[in-house]
Amino acid sequence: MPSAAKPQVWFLTGSQHLYGPETLEQVATQSQQIQRMLTESGRISAEVVWQPVLTDSAAIRQVMLAANSDPSCLGVIAWMHTFSPAKMWITGLDALRKPLLHLHTQLNESLPWATIDMDFMNLNQAAHGDREFGFIQTRLGVPRKTVAGHASDPRLIERIDAWVRAAAGHDHLRGLRLARFGDNMRDVAVTEGDKVEAELRFGVSVNTYGVNDLVAVVDAVGEDEIDVLVAEYADSYRLAPELARGGERHDSLRYAARIEAGLRRFLVDGGFGAFTTNFEDLGGLRQLPGLAVQRLMAEGYGFGGEGDWKTSALLAAVKAMGAGTGRGTSFMEDYTYHFGPGEPKILGAHMLEVCPSIAADKPSCEIHPLGIGGREDPVRLVFDAEPGPAIVVGLADLGERFRLVANEVEVVPPDEPLPALPVARAVWKPAPSLPTSAESWLTAGGPHHTVMTHAVGAETLRDFAQMAATELVVIDRDTTTEGFTDRLRWNQAYYRLAQGLR
Ligand code: MN
Repeated sequence: MPSAAKPQVWFLTGSQHLYGPETLEQVATQSQQIQRMLTESGRISAEVVWQPVLTDSAAIRQVMLAANSDPSCLGVIAWMHTFSPAKMWITGLDALRKPLLHLHTQLNESLPWATIDMDFMNLNQAAHGDREFGFIQTRLGVPRKTVAGHASDPRLIERIDAWVRAAAGHDHLRGLRLARFGDNMRDVAVTEGDKVEAELRFGVSVNTYGVNDLVAVVDAVGEDEIDVLVAEYADSYRLAPELARGGERHDSLRYAARIEAGLRRFLVDGGFGAFTTNFEDLGGLRQLPGLAVQRLMAEGYGFGGEGDWKTSALLAAVKAMGAGTGRGTSFMEDYTYHFGPGEPKILGAHMLEVCPSIAADKPSCEIHPLGIGGREDPVRLVFDAEPGPAIVVGLADLGERFRLVANEVEVVPPDEPLPALPVARAVWKPAPSLPTSAESWLTAGGPHHTVMTHAVGAETLRDFAQMAATELVVIDRDTTTEGFTDRLRWNQAYYRLAQGLR
């Protein structure tokens, strides 16, 4: 879950001694003004920390090494206020292991046509200073995001924050520990993958625990802890009368609360930020965890069903990216189609485990039979997803590399109420159309388990993919099946070449 220290991004300014100490003082003052404009926008989700102006290679290398080793530093923003000869940046950029954003801006907004002189020119020359910096980054092959514009432009701030959020997700994933209760659902292919490669690429450490290790913790939960949770359920949800205190199935609710308390304790004690379950391997658990998984997702934990650790890790990362937006992110599964009448739509859900952070209204807490798993009827939250723009994104292991597949979608209300469907669900229209979306998704080998998010957009996912050096293909309003298929072919060549020999 979020680290204790407030996350930071460091604001680095490049210059040199050519212009004398007086100019360097002005450079420092002006770069502090830019830092304040970024901060005072109130729209950047990390603290923008100003660093002293950099004028030589030793200082640059030192600040890059400090950024690498400071756990509260998510990444660095670099701006060449004046002409900063780029050779002084070579060893520093080579040492940098944190995400980099090249901010191309200048403090002055309008040219003072009538009064401009050479002093003004020297104080406002990022137009060529940043070009020198762009060259050295490209020459060294440094991955970065380049953002150009004036700091008063809300679109510039938005693009910086998209990157900050991606860096927060990247950082969360680098230290993530993921517990799998049981292994993969038998015979399923897409939920498999290379955990060694995942730890190298993303940082997430994935390990399996016998489900009865969890059962021991669940069984040890005290009745007083259960009382607290049951009271919270009654406050937070529309509780089915049969589950309420005095209701004939109240014991089932108490057992669901026992699972929640035990699961949370297991995750907290082990320092885990994500987990998976498998309905084929429930050991001594009397219910498939439904309500517990839903509520832990809402707290920020990653989750994947059927042993799906890749989606679980991705969910944890995307939740970190969307922190503080007030919008939700959930585990999701493409389930069934509505081809018509009206616009084609996808109905997504899971057996039980959809996160209430995407609920349109107060969820209803219910109990119903579950045809699989062979256990007692599980308690779950039932709701429709909040309408609005969203993204679904999945992670596949293609054997030689990971591929992220994303689709821009519009979550819509169901055409009619769904009174007989006893699970939480989302209905959405995929861009650009259901046939093109589905054809592209299938051609890319995208998974049926995904992360659905209302909280972050495609730009953040693109920035994240670059930070993780991982392929991302996005299906959006401009996608055609033919163009998308070509892109996959070109990517195939690019990623094989880019990997080189190892
Ligand atoms: Mn599933």
